[in-house]
Amino acid sequence: MTEKNPGDRRMPLHTKILIGLAIGAALGLFANYIASVYPDPPAVQADPPNVEKAQADRRNADKGRFSVPKFVKNVAEDWAKPIGRVFLRLVIMVVVPLVFSALVLGILELGDIRQLGRVGLKTLGYTMILSFMSVFIGVGLVNLIRPGASLSPEQQEKLTAPYAAAAGDAEAKAAKSKALKDTLLDMLPENPLQEMVGAIDGSSPGNGMLAVMIFALIIGGALTVTPERTGVLIQLLQGLFDVCMTVISFAMRLAPFCVGCLVFAITATIGFDAVAMLIRFVVTVVLGLALQMFVVYSVMLIVVARIPPKQFFRQTSEAIFTAFGTSSSNATLPTSLRVAREELKLRPDVSQFVLTVGSMANQNGTALFEGTVVLFLAQVFGVELTLIQQVTVVMMSVLAGIGTAGVPGGSIPMIIIVLKSVGVPGEGIGIILGVDRILDMCRTTLNVTGDLVLAACVSRSEDRRLGQPIPETAQG
Ligand code: ASP
Repeated sequence: MTEKNPGDRRMPLHTKILIGLAIGAALGLFANYIASVYPDPPAVQADPPNVEKAQADRRNADKGRFSVPKFVKNVAEDWAKPIGRVFLRLVIMVVVPLVFSALVLGILELGDIRQLGRVGLKTLGYTMILSFMSVFIGVGLVNLIRPGASLSPEQQEKLTAPYAAAAGDAEAKAAKSKALKDTLLDMLPENPLQEMVGAIDGSSPGNGMLAVMIFALIIGGALTVTPERTGVLIQLLQGLFDVCMTVISFAMRLAPFCVGCLVFAITATIGFDAVAMLIRFVVTVVLGLALQMFVVYSVMLIVVARIPPKQFFRQTSEAIFTAFGTSSSNATLPTSLRVAREELKLRPDVSQFVLTVGSMANQNGTALFEGTVVLFLAQVFGVELTLIQQVTVVMMSVLAGIGTAGVPGGSIPMIIIVLKSVGVPGEGIGIILGVDRILDMCRTTLNVTGDLVLAACVSRSEDRRLGQPIPETAQG
């Protein structure tokens, strides 16, 4: 979504967003400082019979007086936040059709489910294992480090007061949480349209967005085995997907200003602790990505692909750096295909299939990031998630990893939808958007490396099954 045309000399969008973040944060910190230097007079202290009179005297005295903390609060609540929300609304308005069309098209990429055969099933199996592993790592770390739980009760109260009603709803929903069997059954929607209608405000009878995602998977699977005339439907879905992405690119143009406003609202309310919290969040995400990349992938390479990890990382470095530089799995696909064929010497038929599907569906870095962001923001806003809600976040993050477009910032709409589904205010995204580009570079690196690991595992296991010799370079 922030891709640049070659030869375009304008400042890249992500740089503008970073500048918006820096200006918003600097102004917010300044406003927070000024409000602390000129506080309101302390609350009225009087004995019970005199309290009312003392309060009335205080109100009269306050009448003409300019209150700096009140002014800062008004600017944050009545100006900065609504402007920031324009960006969020533009994204949210297209998120349901976007998720639906992206997932159906993602499944179509896999091809006829009857023809999928062994290679397809292996790809699907390893994709699931790798995606769940990455989300568990992210969710585990965020529960362990608790990067969003560092605010004092007063700061959290200030930050969450405007969302008290939404938080109340979320708690009520959590309290009413259903038995596991009902939660699982509700993933299969009885009325998908009703689920779609209630997916954003959480009023759907079943699992909302998760049910919509499962519906999309079923329609996608069915489409692959429905004869030719479904071509029109596929074109329609592709058109729907493209137009939603265009709306999101409109929203992204407003992002620098809107993100600045959202960050202003947060830093003006809680001050420097917001910046410290953000740094802890970045460290948590990078640590999670590194664990998946160097521990989980190494184990898979040794056990399944039987390639020494050091050699694998050396041979795939070109694709790894391209992913880091472009923040786009799609843009890195040609390099990955070349690396798989020429460096790793994988079977071309298998690696082409796995890498093409993987660039769309096997997005481990994105899945890890989405799970981590949602739990982090839940901590920031003091929303306690039940075990079932955390499981929902994990499932949605895995599916969102499949539905996320392999372009820069592709996961932002998905994150907003997962946030909404567990009752965390979507505005929270403003906290992380400013640092999104650098994290996007890191998670895309993991996405692409994960695709190559997947291709190596499937291809080598096919070689072994067919009794074919393992190529020289792959043996180290
Ligand atoms: N930029 C990522 C990719 O292309 C998607 C995302 O997580 O935003 O793989």
